[in-house]
Amino acid sequence: EMDSLVKKDTDHLWHAMHRYVENQPTMVAESGEGSWFTDVNGNRYLDGVSGLWCLNLGHGRQEIIDAAADQMKQLSYFPLTLSHVPAIDLSAKISQLLGGSYKTFFSNSGSEANEAAFKIARQYHGQNGNPGKYKFISRYRAYHGTTLGALSATAQANRRMKYDPGVPGFLHTSPPYSYRSLFGEDTEKSDLIAAEMIDQMITWEGAESVAGVIMEPFISGGGVIIPSKAYLTRVSEICKKHDVLLIMDEVVSGFGRTGKMFGFMHSDDVEPDIVTMAKGLTSGYLPLGATAVKSEIYEKFKEAGDHTHFRHVSTYGGHPASCAVALKNIEIIEREQIVNRVDKLGESILGQLKELIEHENVGEVRSVGFLYGIEMVEDKKTKKPASDQLIGSIIGKCKENGLIIGRNGDTVPGYNNVLIIAPPLSSTEADLEFLVNTVKSAFYDVKAYIRTEKTSRQ
Ligand code: PMP
Repeated sequence: EMDSLVKKDTDHLWHAMHRYVENQPTMVAESGEGSWFTDVNGNRYLDGVSGLWCLNLGHGRQEIIDAAADQMKQLSYFPLTLSHVPAIDLSAKISQLLGGSYKTFFSNSGSEANEAAFKIARQYHGQNGNPGKYKFISRYRAYHGTTLGALSATAQANRRMKYDPGVPGFLHTSPPYSYRSLFGEDTEKSDLIAAEMIDQMITWEGAESVAGVIMEPFISGGGVIIPSKAYLTRVSEICKKHDVLLIMDEVVSGFGRTGKMFGFMHSDDVEPDIVTMAKGLTSGYLPLGATAVKSEIYEKFKEAGDHTHFRHVSTYGGHPASCAVALKNIEIIEREQIVNRVDKLGESILGQLKELIEHENVGEVRSVGFLYGIEMVEDKKTKKPASDQLIGSIIGKCKENGLIIGRNGDTVPGYNNVLIIAPPLSSTEADLEFLVNTVKSAFYDVKAYIRTEKTSRQ
């Protein structure tokens, strides 16, 4: 059965990214339960990366499944050019969670949520009497999506180069990446210099030409970069000063992943103008993107007599079943106090991963909530990235022992050197202990393996 599946897969399925190893799929999943899934050969794995950081409540939540089925029975589809109940309820819930007055535009994915944000920002400035404000600033290492606008904000050169030219007006600056900062090892100081670089960029580009700054509160796909709290507070001030909209990409960090409902809530006095969401919004059960926009911005569309003319529509955006799933997902997150749980267990159980800093190839262990990045280096002093072979063997060892972890960083060769661990937020304490022990023993095994390799070569 497996052979015919592999052949069918090889013949017909075009996988995302690097899913082929010698022309075979690396993993054909069949079923899932909680934080675990089973492949077609009957092997069970703990999903240490929550799918693509989205399966926050794990597989098989009956309440979520029922919410989708009930909604499909009641009203199978309806467009948001008009309105329906689950979208109304979800938009109100999002305003409540953000703690301010927002209007939410729904789409189907994180990329689309960011595309909507860019178009809203440009149109807003135009209607606010500043039609020249069209540029967007993002940081190197950032990932903001796969469509051409979101890809233009994505500042990882090798993800873009085959598809250039991107959309005009997207500029990139340095991230608050103190481990490899040119501004010294004092994290807060070097992070604040990175913030001032944004101020300088806006000034030198001409504030009258800059529409927005887009960032994640914690860069996830670019190697788990965790700035000091002061960074985001300062960026928010800078954006206000220049009438530049702050677009907060909470696609990964939203809905509890970092131990707060939204990642920007870790810093004081940050009031994003636009917040984009996807992934954890439905815990991955159905596709949904959301772009929450401060009501003052929406008012400008209204004043211009043009509020029905945000010329942007998506057939499936805000699908009734997706909205019903999101509402149930949020209800469970609140009822089970998932956010506090992530904050607590992220520090205690997963916090044991920090002990890996003792290992000769671990340059830094960075974390917030249930989001861990282990930066692998060949040498702690030079910070030269560790070899693919070493990183691959740790991931492989974990897989052999029933745990899936990932890697990311940058697409520049060699810099894909950060191991990623981001288990479902509802993982049991036993799941988390298994995860920590499996990762630690993989480091130990690989170290022992490297030692014997060295000795046998001598
Ligand atoms: N923003 C961030 C921070 C992401 O990590 C991703 C997806 N990895 C996206 C946007 C794009 O989301 P999607 O894949 O749903 O389009």
